[in-house]
Amino acid sequence: MLQGVVRRIRQRALEELRARGNFAAWRERDFLHGESVDAGVVVLSTRGCAWALRGGCTMCGYVYDSSRQVGQEEVLQQLRQALAGLEGVAYLKVFNSGSFFDPGEIAPETRREIYRLVNSLGVERLQVESRPEYISREVVEEAVALLEPELEVGIGLETTSDYIREVCINKGFTLAEFARALEVCRGAGAKVKAYLLIKPPFLTEAEAIEDAVRSALKAARMGVSRLSFNPVNVQRGTLVEELFKRGEYRPPWLWSVVEVVRRVKARVDIPVVCSPSGAGTGRGASNCGRCDARVVEALRSFSATQEMRHLEELSCACKRRWREELALEVFLR
Ligand code: SF4
Ligand SMILES: [Zn+2]
Repeated sequence: MLQGVVRRIRQRALEELRARGNFAAWRERDFLHGESVDAGVVVLSTRGCAWALRGGCTMCGYVYDSSRQVGQEEVLQQLRQALAGLEGVAYLKVFNSGSFFDPGEIAPETRREIYRLVNSLGVERLQVESRPEYISREVVEEAVALLEPELEVGIGLETTSDYIREVCINKGFTLAEFARALEVCRGAGAKVKAYLLIKPPFLTEAEAIEDAVRSALKAARMGVSRLSFNPVNVQRGTLVEELFKRGEYRPPWLWSVVEVVRRVKARVDIPVVCSPSGAGTGRGASNCGRCDARVVEALRSFSATQEMRHLEELSCACKRRWREELALEVFLR
């Protein structure tokens, strides 16, 4: 009898979810073609990342938001609903917490319909995300040919160190595979945005800063057109969360994030962006609690304008404690 009750509750909830479209969409500011612009972000719910379904990356819990049966017409319906609230944006980001070019998540015909819908919005740039193994000359050339706006492909490179990507992140691809995908995109006329992780598990704070800076400079030399830093936030059902619960992982200080962004921006001439999620909550990048909101706001303002002054004006008494921890952590390991 209880089984019948829970089944009815579950079915009703799933029907409601389908009716309202299980997607997220919002507006934000970003930097495009030399100026601060309105950007729209859509996160579609699809079957979920194939790599995550096989185990996936140590810090990623996105799959719990999306691992259910989602038909292709439902994916398009989510996008139509989301785009209705995003008129006037210059920069549109369509994410699916996985790979846009994975035909198991978004079928080729669905992709083509997405290009038609995006064309009708009149944006300057469309950004999607994909793991390198789904990036082929054929799919990128088709996208560039069918799209009126320019195309940017975001790839979660995380670090240029194959050792850290394999042992700390379990990313499942190498720098050489990233380099191949980068060349395919560039050859087809698409831009590439590299996502870099700040503080994967098993690194000290100081090691994480050095890895993020080194990786960004190398990715810039390889030819990416934008760098986006993701400080780790502790997501549910991940290895990082297990370590966090055992007191063996702390997300990065926001001061570390500021340090990485400042050092990189001083040495590259491409946009550098960072909008830490979950910052200041204990599960995301954080400082003392008193200055967190101010530092996150400064990182967002910097990302939307590329003006370093937003980061240079920051200060708080906790910065000294951060410096001390950087110097001491190696002994506490
Ligand atoms: S970080 Fe990207 S590749 Fe890794 S499991 Fe999550 S969605 Fe998949
Ligand atoms: Zn502080």
